[in-house]
Amino acid sequence: MLSYRHAFHAGNAADVVKHTVLAFCLDYLAKKETAFAYIDTHAGAGAYNLEEGYASQNREWESGVSLVLKKFPGNAPLAGRPRDTDGGENSPLMAPYLACLKTGFGALRYPGSPLIAKGLLRKQDRAHCFELHPADFAALDHTLKGDTRFSVQCEDGLSALKGLLPPPQKRGLIFIDPSYEIKDDYTKIPLVLEECLRRFPGGLYLLWFPLLRQDSPGAAASRNLDLGLPGLDTKRRCILSVQQKGDRLGRGLYGSALFIINPPWTLKAALDRELPALASLLGLDRDVRWEEHRVAK
Ligand code: SAM
Repeated sequence: MLSYRHAFHAGNAADVVKHTVLAFCLDYLAKKETAFAYIDTHAGAGAYNLEEGYASQNREWESGVSLVLKKFPGNAPLAGRPRDTDGGENSPLMAPYLACLKTGFGALRYPGSPLIAKGLLRKQDRAHCFELHPADFAALDHTLKGDTRFSVQCEDGLSALKGLLPPPQKRGLIFIDPSYEIKDDYTKIPLVLEECLRRFPGGLYLLWFPLLRQDSPGAAASRNLDLGLPGLDTKRRCILSVQQKGDRLGRGLYGSALFIINPPWTLKAALDRELPALASLLGLDRDVRWEEHRVAK
């Protein structure tokens, strides 16, 4: 039985970075008229009310999305905000994410990855979302009810993924955002990615993983992901991480990273320009590595 609930962490600094890049990539795919597929293997509950339930306990969002909304107050949901405040119009990296906050943030309702996709998919696009936790699945199913572009299933997303590739649209973003509660995830993911790339080498893949202090269970496996999965055959990839300042001794998480395969060509300039300010706003260090044409040995 899964016990991880994303609501505890909704809108925290890691979510901000991950959802900023996700929204940027979806927006990039949507710039071309032809349809694309979005596959979310670990979709979560879809939307999170930050002032209630789990999200209100540790209030992790106060050091995440709250800071973003203070910097870009034009996206605050509250009525009566000044009209000429910064809404992120001059921030190509942040703009798609900020637009999703504006529509999703009604009563401090933070949009998870499926709602970000809902905001950015067009009528010709299709989405498959998987969520194994029964309560989060029910919430997600309810939130997406009536949107015929979305299929939502209470199934193992990692196992279902390969059956969906290549997508009929021949264009697609695959978002893999496990909780790593099941320790097998670390060993499964490289194999799943290998198979996915064989079936759909041109897909845009976004994998999230935690950066773990050296004595944490899973630290070596997470380090392997951070090394960029030696052995995986890709044309272009990027590993982007944000990290707490200070040492890496002991246990627990010191940061998080995104492994992006076939990133949009516009992402590098956007990250160069805006990631330093975003990381500094969140009080984090950042690191971005790009690699071209890595071929498996
Ligand atoms: N992607 C979400 C977002 O950005 O808003 C957050 C997802 S959360 C990090 C991971 C979710 O995956 C949890 O809700 C967990 O219940 C679910 N989960 C864990 N293993 C899964 C699996 N094999 N297939 C589908 N869902 C899984």
